[in-house]
Amino acid sequence: MVGGAGPAGGARAILHVDMDAFFASVEVREQPQLRGLPVLVGGAGRRGVVAAASYEARKFGCRSAQPMAVALRLCPQAVVVPPRHALYAEVSRSVFAVFERFSPLVEGLSIDEAFIDLAGTERLWGPPRGVAEALRVAVHQEVGLTCSVGLASVKFLAKIASGMHKPDGLTEIPAGTELEFLTPLPIGELWGVGPRTQEKLQRRGVHTVGDLRRLGEAALVEMFGAHGQHMYRLSLGLDERAVVPDRAAKSLGHEDTYAVDVVGVPALRRCLLSQATRVADRLVAQGLRARCVSLKIRDGDFVTETRQITLPRATDDYREIHGAACRLLEAVDTDGRGFRLTGVSVSQFEAPEREVQLDLLGPASEPPPRSAALQAVLSAVRERHGHQALFPAEAGSERRPGTTGAITHSRPNEPAKRRR
Ligand SMILES: [Mg+2]
Repeated sequence: MVGGAGPAGGARAILHVDMDAFFASVEVREQPQLRGLPVLVGGAGRRGVVAAASYEARKFGCRSAQPMAVALRLCPQAVVVPPRHALYAEVSRSVFAVFERFSPLVEGLSIDEAFIDLAGTERLWGPPRGVAEALRVAVHQEVGLTCSVGLASVKFLAKIASGMHKPDGLTEIPAGTELEFLTPLPIGELWGVGPRTQEKLQRRGVHTVGDLRRLGEAALVEMFGAHGQHMYRLSLGLDERAVVPDRAAKSLGHEDTYAVDVVGVPALRRCLLSQATRVADRLVAQGLRARCVSLKIRDGDFVTETRQITLPRATDDYREIHGAACRLLEAVDTDGRGFRLTGVSVSQFEAPEREVQLDLLGPASEPPPRSAALQAVLSAVRERHGHQALFPAEAGSERRPGTTGAITHSRPNEPAKRRR
């Protein structure tokens, strides 16, 4: 029986999420008068290239990477919009922040595309198909964009599935039906089967994945070496590659803009506690600790100050992060000023394993600040029941009305187009 080839043999649940006509959809969201029109994002000059085409434009044969001149010949009435990459990067961060609420195992493939491993999320979120649906709803409600999702037991099938019912589609390949799904599929749909490989295979009468499977491993290895073996395994639905979360993130944080300016150190400390807690939750969720804590604070006149401090050891403990943020706050002149925004972020990440080793070498008198297991439980409960559940008592019960939270999440090189 060929099921999903998870590490333990059980079926895994992997999502591939792909935003629909991402740049064009962002532009339509920003300029509602464009809704329903053929929209081409890209350079309008003679050498311009289409970066994205709305689905209305695709009906005319327009697509990304096409010369703009060709696209406009196909669809002369199309509206050409110059690209705004900083905006797309910002929207991408919001989209990924939604993904990361559903699972810590999010691997970005490009600015608008990711794998999400739902391992271990069943207890919190229920069966995978429901998670996929909830994720689509959350992205639409919070970011105002549609995405297409593929759900399968392995990565390459999830990716194929997400493309099957675009736009705004959800396609599941249930565990156990992989072979049935793959057999009639054209070989060009398999990852790593480019035009040259395809041609070579077609000369041997191989047109579908079923044909490829029948040709057999030995013949494929003879023709293509290790690549042949890889293709054979794919034809059986086998793909052990794990979803590798984007640990390269440089910083993560949380900031709030308040409807009414916050006045006085005690009130500001409470704001920072809320933010430190959220940041710690996200560190735990991603299995990271951070050494550097930053404070961002903006007063009613839009004067913004940022300060940072490096801790003696990396932490994921909200109390240590809050303590550091409060020390940074002491350096801010708070007298007679009201503040409209505060934010706490952390950077300089370390994986916990490394710290365990340091602990072994360091003085035995220094106990770990807090049980990681306990913090993980607290984080999971907050994730499930909302942030106010298990909020630290010292934060008080006050919930400031009219605040808008934003998760900040910067990546080292903003994904221009990271394709495998
Ligand atoms: Mg896309």
